[in-house]
Amino acid sequence: MSDPRIKKYRNLTVAMQHGLFNVGEDHESNDEVGQLGHALIELAKSMESWHRDQGLLTKITEKINQGVFMEDVLDFVYEAFQRAIPYNRIGFAVLDEEGILRARWARSDALEIKINEGFSQYLKDSSLAKIMETGEPRILNDLEDYLLNHPDSISTQLIVEEGVRSSLTCPLLALGKPVGFIFFSSNEKNTYQNIHQDIFRRIANQLAVTVEKSRLYEDLYRLNKELSEARDALEHQANHDVLTGLWNRRAIMQLGDKEIARVRRTGHSATVFMADIDYFKKVNDTYGHQAGDDVLEEVARRLEDVCREEDSVGRYGGEEFLVILSITNECDIEAVAERYRARIEAKAVVTADNEISVTLSVGVGIARDASQIDLSQLINLADQALYEAKDAGRNQVKVKEAEEQ
Ligand code: GH3
Ligand code: MG
Ligand code: MG
Repeated sequence: MSDPRIKKYRNLTVAMQHGLFNVGEDHESNDEVGQLGHALIELAKSMESWHRDQGLLTKITEKINQGVFMEDVLDFVYEAFQRAIPYNRIGFAVLDEEGILRARWARSDALEIKINEGFSQYLKDSSLAKIMETGEPRILNDLEDYLLNHPDSISTQLIVEEGVRSSLTCPLLALGKPVGFIFFSSNEKNTYQNIHQDIFRRIANQLAVTVEKSRLYEDLYRLNKELSEARDALEHQANHDVLTGLWNRRAIMQLGDKEIARVRRTGHSATVFMADIDYFKKVNDTYGHQAGDDVLEEVARRLEDVCREEDSVGRYGGEEFLVILSITNECDIEAVAERYRARIEAKAVVTADNEISVTLSVGVGIARDASQIDLSQLINLADQALYEAKDAGRNQVKVKEAEEQ
């Protein structure tokens, strides 16, 4: 009859084949068959950690493929590998086109991180340049001792101040091209042994390729952001008046067309105000064109201030403003127009050299049945009302309603 342990070991190898490495405690005896058991259990243990690390490495790749930032990948490394390898700190630096190595990211248990974004040094002539040349990770197991022998190394000084005592530095090479470094550090001396180098090297390999990829992604993201900001600025420019910042004529007319289309659907009345500063020519003639501009700006600011959330105010021409009202309920339209007039009269406009009092005439155009009218006809009505207000002595509101047909 054969040794029953043989069957047990055979089952164990089959389990491992299926990715099951949890083989329990090693109670094997020391005879020849027992030693085979020892070896198998050791194999299972190392396979288990290899398997786990491989899973984590795959996750790094997945994260990169999802297009996340390098910082997010590094955060993941910092959190995920704590069980697999010892460290109190991970730092990451990128080599730029000019050969300057720039610290890009660091995370640590320490209260204060002394080498972080903003820290940079030339790679050339530094001890890191040699590491990059060999492409091999470097282990320093007593940084205080290293500092005694290299008192000029500022980065070592800073890192020792943070509490770090040993370090493992991995060069990052993407397709043979140096792209940066990843630094693992521990607050204990003699933390790193050659067995750690392998997993570090694998992380480094993974990161190196992804540095390039995520750099590209970050460039793309930044470009995209700049582009959308430029587009927003351009859109703002296209729709707003330069002097007053109000909607320009084209934009306020568009809003007017939209509003008329809306009230045609809802059955509400359509209303616009045409407001014009009284005797504005005199302001320019008396105080100069610059003072005139200052008055226009201030008047616009006040109109915007009075304007209700649902309404829109635009600069229609020189000192003429068009207000598009959005009426959703019965309201006292004349009282709304009166608020605009009163706000301009209320206080003189203070310019650099003068206090200038101006008043506003407002013509209101109303169409109870918006299906009978378009925007230019409604503006025409408001213009007629404005003319009446001017004719009646200015600084007042006049209303003109479209006749029902
Ligand atoms: P009324 O009470 O009848 O409206 O008289 P008014 O003087 O305001 O009207 P008029 O149309 O005679 O003059 C408007 C003036 O507005 C003339 C023009 O030079 C001035 N104006 C138009 N646009 C601007 C501008 O952007 N800046 C300055 N400073 N003045 C402007
Ligand atoms: Mg005027
Ligand atoms: Mg005018």
